[in-house]
Amino acid sequence: MMTSPTVHHRQLYRLPWSLPDNAISWLEPTSACNLACDGCYRENVAKSHKSLEVVRREVETFRELRNSDGISIAGGDPLMHPNIVEIVRMIAEMGFKPVINTNGGMLTPELLRELKRAGAAGFTFHIDSKQGRPKWKNKNEVELNELRLSYAEMLAEAGGLSCAFNSTVYEDTLPYTPELIDWAAKHIDVVHVMVFILFRAAVPQLPFDWYAGGKKINLGVLAYSETKERKIDLRSTDVVAEIRKRFPEFTPCAYLNGTEKPDSFKWLLTGRLGSKEKIYGYVGPKFMETIQTMYHLTQGRYLAYTKPAHTNLGRSMLLLSLIDRGVRGVAGSYLSAVLTNPLRLFKGLHYQSIMIIQPIDFLENSLQNMCDGCPDMTLWNGELVWSCRMEELKHFGCWVRSVPRASA
Ligand code: SF4
Repeated sequence: MMTSPTVHHRQLYRLPWSLPDNAISWLEPTSACNLACDGCYRENVAKSHKSLEVVRREVETFRELRNSDGISIAGGDPLMHPNIVEIVRMIAEMGFKPVINTNGGMLTPELLRELKRAGAAGFTFHIDSKQGRPKWKNKNEVELNELRLSYAEMLAEAGGLSCAFNSTVYEDTLPYTPELIDWAAKHIDVVHVMVFILFRAAVPQLPFDWYAGGKKINLGVLAYSETKERKIDLRSTDVVAEIRKRFPEFTPCAYLNGTEKPDSFKWLLTGRLGSKEKIYGYVGPKFMETIQTMYHLTQGRYLAYTKPAHTNLGRSMLLLSLIDRGVRGVAGSYLSAVLTNPLRLFKGLHYQSIMIIQPIDFLENSLQNMCDGCPDMTLWNGELVWSCRMEELKHFGCWVRSVPRASA
């Protein structure tokens, strides 16, 4: 039985996201990309841009099958699509918040303005040290903060856009996570979300044979198979433990469990309130429950990607100290800081999210532990499917099963 040494799931709020009612859906208008990231889950196919008709049909299918607040426009890199502005406009007109997941390489201030005018709600920039970025080769995670900040400032100048950064976390980059958390705190006014996605691959040291549709298959054709032996079972709690070495008070508030393991943290969410000068504390489970419930009651959907105009309302959020112990702690520490220096009253109090994502776990009994209530469901032949494993459907027409090797 897996137990977490650092966080217990029964003490957190289980995010209410499910297959038909989920904060997010995942659209891939192209599989083409201008980088070749180490941990990428998608085969890079140059001529794979979907037509506007196909994209419209997919968004309509999302609307039929799934109650979503935002649509992550991913890929590939969606900025490679020649009609990306029209795609963003179409999604916004169909009532969803378009959020662009990009490596940022093709983003210019002019394109940003066009995307904003078309209705973009925000950007998630994938930036990490294993992307082979031209001009940023051999830079570590901390050195890449300069690049992250340039995007955050570009968005802040355009105004009204949510700014998120995600990075894949490998065994050798895990020690950088506290520094990224620290950097994000210092830019809490312009960085709204940090996402850490744990590296996963199908590697030879796994004691399985691989089958699809009853036939033994060669997994080597998939973008996420690898021949190197490296760690593929980092857990969200490893990241929390690493962050707590430097920030012992770091406290998650909400999670999504695994399909096979109720006590695994497939999505582990932390929310904190602070200014550029100081983090005053971490919100608790009741805060997140109230926000998600109130949004669903008033908007009919669960919340994804808060507008900067709302994340900057930290002082109003302190009202939730009536029901949330975490916010009470924030209010106390904010009040004493203001009493020490009343000028702090004139500085903004901001909310920032930190999400840790733990994709597929191969369990010893050969079951595959996926995210229960996966927000990143995309479409394959009109069906909702896990975007992180869609290559299996493209190559074999069905999911790959792991079967314990007879000799293992
Ligand atoms: S199941 Fe896969 S696609 Fe869905 S949230 Fe988890 S990692 Fe992402």
